[in-house]
Amino acid sequence: MLLDIARAILAQPTAPFHEDAVRAEILMQLAQCPHVTTELDDFGNVIACYRRGTGEARYAFAAHMDHPAYVGGEFLGGVPVEYREKNPPLRDFGAFAMWDLPAFELRDGRIFSRACDDLIGCAAMVALFHELERAGAETCVHGLFTRAEEVGFVGAIRLAQSGRVPKTLTVVSLETSSEKGGPAQMGAGVIVRVGDRTSIFDDAATASLLDAAQRAEIPVQRCLMSGGTCEATAYQLYGYRSAGLCVALGNYHNCGPDTQIASEFVSVDDVAGMVRLMVAATTGAPAADPHAALRARLEAGVASYARFTEPPV
Ligand SMILES: [Zn+2]
Repeated sequence: MLLDIARAILAQPTAPFHEDAVRAEILMQLAQCPHVTTELDDFGNVIACYRRGTGEARYAFAAHMDHPAYVGGEFLGGVPVEYREKNPPLRDFGAFAMWDLPAFELRDGRIFSRACDDLIGCAAMVALFHELERAGAETCVHGLFTRAEEVGFVGAIRLAQSGRVPKTLTVVSLETSSEKGGPAQMGAGVIVRVGDRTSIFDDAATASLLDAAQRAEIPVQRCLMSGGTCEATAYQLYGYRSAGLCVALGNYHNCGPDTQIASEFVSVDDVAGMVRLMVAATTGAPAADPHAALRARLEAGVASYARFTEPPV
């Protein structure tokens, strides 16, 4: 299911401010989910909501629908000039042009694509909604699919400024993140991202995700991924409690070996783990205090050294 969803979304061309094909595919796939409602904000970001039962939502997951590309002859997004000046072949989509690379290839347990960043995050979120439907989960969760992240979080900032997303929700950014930007290993599990190049995320929200992973026995890596800045930083600037999940990304922004433009790639297992962790966080009982287990462990240590404390005077 995940691969079918990913293949269909990755097949859509995209660029900053030209996300309409990706958005149409996402809306079509979400229309198959009877408990999911979708709406667009003034800027064209998608706000989705799965609701079954009476539970309050705790999370809004967030992914962006664009990818660096040429728009009207101008390159939008972070790709160093030494890659671009080699004039790699382009594929023209009318209003914009992408690198002429395959949309989707599956090889050795990895997905290769011209635009894993962040269509993989979008696909993971759609897979979450489908999985909740399949399981008949009684829960409520929001999904934010944003535009024009690659030029400075334009969609996320417009959405945050609009106040449409309640501040009671924890916003969890879903990203693919350069494997060079941290100690994470591709294939070793979804990454609970404690921060990005610019900021660190909410400690309690991060602890809650780690707690959910541990309870569901999902392998995770806990890392600072400093290769780029993600939307969690943007939402945090507008007062949202934020956290991040990501998967390690090879050839970040299509920058391959020898200064050649190449397909980005991710591990299928890592992406599946990301979906499982979202399901676990969304459906599991919230930890009353995500720090309780750690505090209990440390307090047991304190007690075990009671014999070394000074006698009372
Ligand atoms: Zn990017």
